[in-house]
Amino acid sequence: MTVSTIEAIYAEVLRRNPAEKEFHQAVREVLESLEPVLARHPEYTELKTVQRICEPERQIIFRVPWADDRGEVQINRGFRVEFNSALGPYKGGLRFHPSVYLGIIKFLGFEQVFKNALTGMPIGGGKGGSDFDPKGRSDAEIMRFCQSFMTELYRHLGEYTDVPAGDIGVGGREIGYLFGQYKRITNRYESGVLTGKGLGWGGARVRTEATGYGAAFFAEEMLAARGSSLDGQTVVVSGSGNVAIYAIEKVTQLGGRAIACSDSSGYVVDERGLDLDLLKQIKEVERGRLSEYTERVRHARHVTGGSVWDVPCTVAVPSATQNELDGEAAQTLLRNGLVAVSEGANMPSTPEAVKLFLAAGIAYGPGKAANAGGVATSALEMQQNASRDRWTFEHTEARLRDIMRDVHASCAAAAEEYGDPGNLVLGANITGFVRVADAMHAHGLV
Ligand code: GLU
Repeated sequence: MTVSTIEAIYAEVLRRNPAEKEFHQAVREVLESLEPVLARHPEYTELKTVQRICEPERQIIFRVPWADDRGEVQINRGFRVEFNSALGPYKGGLRFHPSVYLGIIKFLGFEQVFKNALTGMPIGGGKGGSDFDPKGRSDAEIMRFCQSFMTELYRHLGEYTDVPAGDIGVGGREIGYLFGQYKRITNRYESGVLTGKGLGWGGARVRTEATGYGAAFFAEEMLAARGSSLDGQTVVVSGSGNVAIYAIEKVTQLGGRAIACSDSSGYVVDERGLDLDLLKQIKEVERGRLSEYTERVRHARHVTGGSVWDVPCTVAVPSATQNELDGEAAQTLLRNGLVAVSEGANMPSTPEAVKLFLAAGIAYGPGKAANAGGVATSALEMQQNASRDRWTFEHTEARLRDIMRDVHASCAAAAEEYGDPGNLVLGANITGFVRVADAMHAHGLV
């Protein structure tokens, strides 16, 4: 009975949202976990809670015109999907990448709803972005784009309404330009309207590090539940952006040896452990390519193209982008002795890879749980903004550590309660869903 309900809901999602394959994938994965919940709670079926959760509360699509450095007019498309506000204001990042279209933003927004619920913080879920490609653009172009983007988006935002942050292609520099334009248009110094701000003007300590640190903490929790730890593990991290860099930093502090990371043109392997200062210099200061690493570290090797998942490791932290780790990569990793995967990116493993990890019984932390540290620390930033307070690095990191411990504990408890101990996909989906669904029920037919 419930299986056919779920199939019918999924068929309707496909019909209503054609040609949005990433959104379909994200919905499918959650729906597959919900059968035992619907069996126990007939009210979710009666009140069509699942169907309501799959439909965003509001979807905004807008034109973003701007002039490049040569004076040529450019036109991009901007998005903000305000998915669910049952638990708090819409919260979620902005992604600037040429691959962005409505299906990507909806998949990210949908994931964000459950992830944010898992953090236990008072935040709803949303996501936004643009098909703008920041690669090769000057600072001045980035600023003009951000200003034009915010000139439309500002009317939908507010510290109690919708609070964006960064994602791929949006970091501290972009948040600065976006905040400046919001402040100018509204004539309000509304610090809590954006998170990921600079430390000198309302930003929170640890926010930059939080997603990567959180993914490392989550790996540590999963391993501890199995009587192990990160100490002595060989770790491969994909990507070399903000999430990857700080995952490497925390994994290393916890005794792991991070030996490889990647960017869109290839990957670098340093068997002695990646030199973090050099990585930060290349990626954060120079905004350069990873291939430059081997020019300065002679014993390291750079592979152009190929898959970073070919590098043997015991712990994998996919921190690049969606669907970057497929079935074939999962098989290679498992053959090489993988014991844990902690996802720093959103939906980096394909459904086939997830199936293989779960079947192999390794520790698998899905993104909506493992990378929740970023948005959780955004909520801590909002908390500091609301109370006009500033916390120390140590205090904030301790809060993040506790939140990640709680996220893991609730996912593990739900997996146990619903009869599949250790299955954190099930645990994360059920926990997130029940928290959002119960709040929606309390609010009436919304
Ligand atoms: N983009 C991040 C995520 O995927 C952070 C969102 C936020 O801090 O609002 O969770």
